[in-house]
Amino acid sequence: MRLITQRKLAGILRREAERRGAGFLPFAPSEIYIDPCNACDLRCTFCPQSNWGGRRRGLMSRELFELAIEQAVELRPQRVNLFCYGESLLHKDIAEMVRHAAGRGLWVRIHTNARSLDADKARRLIESGLSEIRFSFDTPDRELYNRLRVGGDFDAVLANIRGFIRIKQELGAVLPRVYLQEMIPFEAGKKARNSEAYRRLFEGRDVIFSARYMHNFAGASQEAGFAGLQAVGESPCREIYRRLVVTFDGKIHACCLDAEGHNIIGDLSRGDTIASAWNGGAMRDLRRRTSTHKLEGLDPCQHCDELRRNRRPVKLSRRLVGGLAWYAVKPFIKRD
Ligand code: SF4
Repeated sequence: MRLITQRKLAGILRREAERRGAGFLPFAPSEIYIDPCNACDLRCTFCPQSNWGGRRRGLMSRELFELAIEQAVELRPQRVNLFCYGESLLHKDIAEMVRHAAGRGLWVRIHTNARSLDADKARRLIESGLSEIRFSFDTPDRELYNRLRVGGDFDAVLANIRGFIRIKQELGAVLPRVYLQEMIPFEAGKKARNSEAYRRLFEGRDVIFSARYMHNFAGASQEAGFAGLQAVGESPCREIYRRLVVTFDGKIHACCLDAEGHNIIGDLSRGDTIASAWNGGAMRDLRRRTSTHKLEGLDPCQHCDELRRNRRPVKLSRRLVGGLAWYAVKPFIKRD
């Protein structure tokens, strides 16, 4: 007999909720983004923060950060992401923030472009209790990298990443897990896989490779011409069934692709909470509209390729387990 883990069951339930286009969810977000800072030291061609006009940039205060962490602790997400719309390493207190979150028992992840990751920062981060670090090092192609990541330098960043891995080894640290993330043009029905050239760059090092499909940042990318980016078809939005974002100023964004804040579903500085926003009216409405593809006038979703990707069909056995799980939790689902 095969046993199923609690985490897998939660995943199946989540996919069932997506499939049904449920508004109210009887489970907490599996990931919470708490964005320490929405400034960045690069101006990547594909990233909305490079051209988002008048939106205010800033650093999260310690007080707001601790409030967000306390709320996250109550919801017990699989992980807390200390990044989103900016480059977290630009926050001078980032190592202390990680230490605080990890000390509260959270799995803490950072995604970084590694441009400013010198040896001192690397050591402080490793010693802070960080659980996972992901490097946005998109491609083994030096020319392409330098064109996309305006302000970045392929060789300097590669040296920073390798330096980080070396320091972790010297310290004998088990954590953070180190992920290298390559971006791959989207192909319907196929799994994203790392290229051999990419793997060779980090051969023999203690890293985990990850491949992700490129996306259009809900229409905000300046790289809409990438081959394979113009997806067709209809798919549910998976983001708003999994995660939400607390920005540096306490606003709660429904989605990590919504850098401009079209769908703000709460505000910690006004007394809202992560839990109340997760199933609040604005979030429920967004789930309903995206699942029924009623997108007219709905920014940024109407431009988002997340809703136009033909994904692999869910196996019948999974759907059956999902249906059973859904009916088991049904008595706890609020009618609205
Ligand atoms: S469809 Fe809307 S909510 Fe979903 S990922 Fe795209 S922008 Fe975000």
